[in-house]
This record gives sequence, C-alpha cells and structure tokens, in this order.
Amino acid sequence: MVKQQFKAESKRLLDMMINSIYSQREIFLRELISNSSDAIDKIYYKALTDDSLNFDKDSYYIKVAVDKENRILKISDTGIGMTKEELENNLGVIAKSGSLAFKDENELKDGHDIIGQFGVGFYSAFMVADVVTVISKALGNDDAYKWESAGADGYTIVPCEKDSVGTEIVLKIKENTEDESYDEYLEEYRLKAIIKKYSDFIRYPIKMDVTEK
Ligand code: ADP
Ligand code: MG
Repeated sequence: MVKQQFKAESKRLLDMMINSIYSQREIFLRELISNSSDAIDKIYYKALTDDSLNFDKDSYYIKVAVDKENRILKISDTGIGMTKEELENNLGVIAKSGSLAFKDENELKDGHDIIGQFGVGFYSAFMVADVVTVISKALGNDDAYKWESAGADGYTIVPCEKDSVGTEIVLKIKENTEDESYDEYLEEYRLKAIIKKYSDFIRYPIKMDVTEK
C-alpha cells in the first residue's frame, strides 16, 4: 500500500493547527458534526429533484459513539457519503477546508481568532486524535473506501466494507501526557455539553451511544 503525501501547503497548515491551537480543542466535534449535517443536506436537496430518492427524515441522523476502553470516538452520518475520488480530493488537501484557504500565515499564528470565528474543518480532528479513519460509501455506489491518516505524514485509501450509504469518522483519541489530558473527549456528559454549546441548531437528530468498560 502506497502512502500518499498531503500537498505541501496542507502539511504546513496541518502542523500549525495541531501544534499551535490548544485552548479550543473541543471545536473538533462542531466541525465533524457540521460536515455530517452538510452531507445529509446534500442527500435532502438531491431528493427534492430526484423522484427515485425518497427523503424520509427519520432515517437521517448523526450518531456520536464512544468506546472508552479503546479510546475510540466515532461520528457517523447517513449523509451522501464520499467516493474514492472525493475522499482523495476533499480530505487530501487541507487548504480546501473552508476558511483556512483565505488566511495567510500571520493570521494563522494567532490561532484563537480563526477558531472562534470560522470553521477550521475536518483536520481539527487531529487536535484530539492521533489516528483518524474515514469510512465512506457514496450515494449510488456499491464500493466503500477507508481513508486513514496519523497526521502530517500522509494518508492511505483502501477498499472496505460498509453496508449503508454515509460516512463514519473514527477518532483514536490521544493518550494523556504529563501536561495534557484528552479523557474528557470520551466522557458522555462532556460530549453532550460540547454538542449543546456548538451544535444546538443542527436540524438532524444527534444520537449518542456510549460503551463503558
Ligand atoms: P468544509 O466543510 O469547509 O468544506 P472540511 O474540512 O470540514 O471543509 O471538509 C472538507 C470536505 O470533505 C467537505 O467539503 C466535504 O466535501 C467532505 N466531507 C467531510 N466530512 C464529510 C462527511 N461526513 N460526509 C461527506 N463529505 C464529507
Ligand atoms: Mg466543514
């Protein structure tokens, strides 16, 4: 399996983001949930113009699942999903990530403002996870693919199994260090509070699923 490299620009931004922005790590969840919501919107709008698609509101939702023992946090959705090419193009180039593309390096140095005001996108997952896995099946496709990355050193894409259309983002939450604890991102009450704070307006149900030890 060949490991793909992020574009140079992406690499620089990714390093900067992982290393310089600490105080508002919690926003990674807002970013992933908003991506899930966008993906469900896309299926919804498609259904409006495509009679063969039937948008049944009850079958569209976002799920946040925690496996504490294995330090896994999973955000999954029943949205439009991504093809292999979309995984490559959308997750392989960090500058595509909304607003980061419009910021120059000086502005990025003062990370707090950006994080507060704009979306920082998918890559914010690396603030809390040392491995991010994206399993996705696109609407109208039979194949599913798994994108995986441990950060700035690149990513891989391989075929995989997935029953239904949609996307699953699997975060391997970082181990605690002497100075930093990441345990809070595996705590139900904390995740619920973050969701309430940033994602209250999301118009699809956000379900929670917790596996204790
Ligand atoms: P933005 O949301 O500003 O476009 P992101 O970095 O958050 O930037 O996401 C990059 C792209 O990856 C999105 O535009 C979308 O095409 C794709 N993407 C991310 N998460 C999902 C998801 N859950 N379902 C489908 N596509 C997704
Ligand atoms: Mg986004």
